[in-house]
Amino acid sequence: MPYLILSDLHSNREALEAVMEDAQGRYDRVLCLGDIVGYGADPNFTAEWVREHATEAIRGNHDKMCTGVESPEGHNQAARTAAEWTRARLTEANAAYLASLPRGPLRVEDFDLVHGSPLDEDEYLIHAGDVALTLEALDAQVTFFGHTHIQGGFLLARRGIRRIAGERVLELEPDYMYLINPGSVGQPRDANPRAAYAIYTPENRRVEYRRVRYDIPSAAQKILDAGLPPILAGRLYEGT
Ligand code: ZN
Repeated sequence: MPYLILSDLHSNREALEAVMEDAQGRYDRVLCLGDIVGYGADPNFTAEWVREHATEAIRGNHDKMCTGVESPEGHNQAARTAAEWTRARLTEANAAYLASLPRGPLRVEDFDLVHGSPLDEDEYLIHAGDVALTLEALDAQVTFFGHTHIQGGFLLARRGIRRIAGERVLELEPDYMYLINPGSVGQPRDANPRAAYAIYTPENRRVEYRRVRYDIPSAAQKILDAGLPPILAGRLYEGT
């Protein structure tokens, strides 16, 4: 059964719609790794879509911030402003849904979903050194993570940890462990502005990384029109 793996949608309706169109017919079930809202101008659209379509979803730090589960203290000004803006606009039902999302790791079949890392939902796995510290917490051969907005992930072999980058299709080897990041739907930060996602087919032991062009000018203009920090609009063009 192919899974559509989405992460870091960040209230970007245009990006999510483009992903839906591109992924049509390629999957049976939807899994979401969190950060459904925050930053973008369409929080109710992305929250409702995930509520309706995701079989399983876990929370991200922005889902906590935008629903009052966690204080926005300690985050940068743009994130805090967007969190307050989002919190004032989420419908009661969407806010309740987001606040009720479980923290990872969440087991699905024989693989795990986490937002940040298996040890800490708010931790960023950017470097091999970050991954080395989480090794003992890895419980499944395949763990999906988000949070960094960088598509790819890490392959863990006995000889060391290797970064997975620039691969379109990954055939999973039985001897390795994998941390797989589908990338961010709504705010990519790997210098590629196209919306990112992945399709995972456990039967074929296959992960397909995908990128899709979407209407960035519309998403960016909505951010500006909403009075959200302009940096949140500009970065969409750069993928940073
Ligand atoms: Zn995020």
